[in-house]
Amino acid sequence: MTKDCVLVINCGSSSLKFSLIVPQSGETLLSGLAERLLSNDASITIKMDGEKNTSRLPDPFDHQSALSHLVAFLYQHKFEQRLLAIGHRVVHGGENYSKPELVTEVVEKTIEALSALAPLHNPVNLIGIRASKQAFSHLPQVAVFDTAFHQTMPKTAYLYGLPYKLYEQHSIRRYGFHGTSHYFVSMQFAQMNNKPIEDTHVITAHLGNGCSIAAIEGGQCVDTSMGLTPLEGLVMGTRSGSLDPGIVFHLCKQLGYSIEQVDSLLNKESGLLGISEISNDCRTLEEAIENDGNEHANLAMDIFCYQISKTIASYSASLSKLDGIVFTGGIGENSSLVRERVVNRLKLLNLAIDNEANLATRFGKSGNIAKAGHTGCWVIPTNEEWVIAEQTYQLINEGN
Ligand code: AMP
Repeated sequence: MTKDCVLVINCGSSSLKFSLIVPQSGETLLSGLAERLLSNDASITIKMDGEKNTSRLPDPFDHQSALSHLVAFLYQHKFEQRLLAIGHRVVHGGENYSKPELVTEVVEKTIEALSALAPLHNPVNLIGIRASKQAFSHLPQVAVFDTAFHQTMPKTAYLYGLPYKLYEQHSIRRYGFHGTSHYFVSMQFAQMNNKPIEDTHVITAHLGNGCSIAAIEGGQCVDTSMGLTPLEGLVMGTRSGSLDPGIVFHLCKQLGYSIEQVDSLLNKESGLLGISEISNDCRTLEEAIENDGNEHANLAMDIFCYQISKTIASYSASLSKLDGIVFTGGIGENSSLVRERVVNRLKLLNLAIDNEANLATRFGKSGNIAKAGHTGCWVIPTNEEWVIAEQTYQLINEGN
């Protein structure tokens, strides 16, 4: 049997997402999610051939038991004979990694050390890597970093207005996230416009539960909106995005918040949820606006869209020219309302939307939704899993 598949693993604190992909054709053979891990309600759902099967996981309900279940399933369907390697999404690669890496002892230690910069993500990514090494000890494991694509940013873009020694001694700087998504849609944009990537100037907006924007020139990221952590930049589902740092002192000194409370407030209780007081979900807010003209929902969406427009416009300072903008992520790919509100504020960039194309380009469709004679405005569904599979495949074939 030909070895042609890569298993992609994306580990969260209580979840493990996976897909089995043939990188060369882009075919997804199966995908799924183990959720509520570490609780006795843990379950795993596997989708294959249009069918979905959910099973409860046995004690100890952890990432290892999820992987054991997956391994048994792969053997049952003889997929293990086709496996080439395992590709892992790792959130923070710091300045150490600007491309995917074969996981070695040193790489594992570095990912562990970088947990200081991503305490919520890197430790669980490592749990996934270690569980997968046990389950597939004979296969290469590859780490694909969310921060890697942004490593080309110049110092002007990645340094904060802080004492330089904080950067030198503690690595405090902008790193950016969603790198595989920005990379993928910028490459797709070039291809769809029949342009070499070296001559492509594009702004990509990844709008999902987490949101970030990147300015990309000649295939290289020159600026992005997320920072040291994914909290910076745009208003998101539950994250506040950028704000006056003085607000943190005010909350602590005047209002008696603890650091943990501020952390939870800014990461989990703010953004669309905090402003609307209804939901962090864009669909629910759109329904509230449409059905009963809910003012809070409308205000939350307006603030959300204004921040996106402002950030896109600010990248006029980063790019030498603009071929187009790209919307991606759950909101970018599906919400005509968000796209319309964002683009309506960007007339100075010669952007204007074609209403019919905007309404028609949803649910997995890609295309240019700009009015004729205006700067390109594209909707391109992202595919981070495929990027991880493809980069894993490329790495293990290097030198062959
Ligand atoms: P993601 O994190 O990329 O999965 O995106 C999640 C976000 O996409 C949520 O806010 C959803 O409400 C939003 N979303 C998904 N489908 C739609 C839709 N049809 N219309 C508007 N928003 C959507």
